[in-house]
Amino acid sequence: QGVVKPPPTPSPLRFSKFFQSNMRILVTGGAGFIGSHLVDKLMENEKNEVIVVDNFFTGSKDNLRKWIGHPRFELIRHDVTEPLLVEVDQIYHLACPASPIFYKYNPVKTIKTNVMGTLNMLGLAKRVGARILLTSTSEVYGDPLEHPQKEEYWGNVNPIGVRSCYDEGKRVAETLMFDYHRQHGIEIRIARIFNTYGPRMNIDDGRVVSNFIAQALRGEALTVQAPGTQTRSFCYVSDMVNGLIRLMEGDNTGPINLGNPGEFTMTELAETVKGLINPSVTIKMVENTPDDPRQRKPDITKANEVLGWEPKIKLRDGLPLMGEDFRLRLGVPKTA
Ligand code: NAD
Ligand code: UDP
Ligand code: UDP
Repeated sequence: QGVVKPPPTPSPLRFSKFFQSNMRILVTGGAGFIGSHLVDKLMENEKNEVIVVDNFFTGSKDNLRKWIGHPRFELIRHDVTEPLLVEVDQIYHLACPASPIFYKYNPVKTIKTNVMGTLNMLGLAKRVGARILLTSTSEVYGDPLEHPQKEEYWGNVNPIGVRSCYDEGKRVAETLMFDYHRQHGIEIRIARIFNTYGPRMNIDDGRVVSNFIAQALRGEALTVQAPGTQTRSFCYVSDMVNGLIRLMEGDNTGPINLGNPGEFTMTELAETVKGLINPSVTIKMVENTPDDPRQRKPDITKANEVLGWEPKIKLRDGLPLMGEDFRLRLGVPKTA
């Protein structure tokens, strides 16, 4: 009575080491934007077998087209709020809508995904002795009172606002990760991802970079939400994927900020997209949504020191790559 059970030591025998030489990796949310790029990178290594679990809420099979039928690849339609039984060595847990219009669409489902989904993946990690990485978010810092944001900052988050299902959900997910680590000895990794952009984002995703690029290609006015002086820092998706893999393979639990410290106001971003994609479009100011953080920029000192990671692709180089992908998907001729 009253005796605290010491946490068990993590199983030294991971599934694949026991049965075969390949590494079996689960990617939840692998049909989404970042997840599908991560899958591409993991599949490049012939020793990896990849299982994607996704409910296709915001992701699509199309993002994984080239891997369907591949002997080292498996796609499972499954909702992470339900228990999952698979045997794996590593879990990249990404499943969760990331765009405000999608995560606000069914906020109760968003919080279930963050809390019950993460709990289930931790239960799975515990049962099979897998290492698990959570893609948390810069939103855990809320509307930050410290700038730039370091991992030690506890944040300024509204617990009852319209974004809370997402940012408080991710905060609980981080708590669960650390409690499973302390209580059950699970090997955890937490990435705090800052705004990421690139090919395969949903065209109607609603996030700022995809909105501006789609608007520029369609010849519509770019909608800057007032006041336009709010800032964000944008990381190209290939840099993000490299950071996630380094974090998973390294020794540090995190949380670790992953993002590009280049900081832009939304007005500057609109002007840059206009200049690069379609100089003939106009820029108009529209109403903003509640609780919009005024500024956001990662301090990536820790990622640099611990993982030897920093982003390589500048916004001016990444935007045209995304513009070309959107142009092809929208069927806009090259001269437009
Ligand atoms: P995305 O919406 O493109 O991908 C999320 C994927 O998860 C989709 O394929 C979706 O269908 C799937 N999903 C959602 N709920 C699910 C559920 N209950 N069960 C199974 N699958 C489910 O978003 P993304 O931009 O690729 O983001 C991936 C992860 O990175 C998310 O966890 C997100 O919170 C985090 N993140 C992204 C950004 C960013 O700028 N893109 C920033 C911070 C954090
Ligand atoms: N779980 C899962 N797959 C597994 C093992 C567990 O989805 O392989 C789920 C399980 O259904 C539970 C959650 O993970 O809801 C937490 O599991 P844990 O064993 O930590 O807790 P308990 O089942 O004792 O509540
Ligand atoms: N934003 C904008 N125009 C748009 C969409 C978004 O000016 O069409 C602004 C929004 O007000 C916010 C920033 O862009 O300040 C980033 O919003 P997004 O939804 O992309 O991501 P967030 O960082 O808020 O999760």
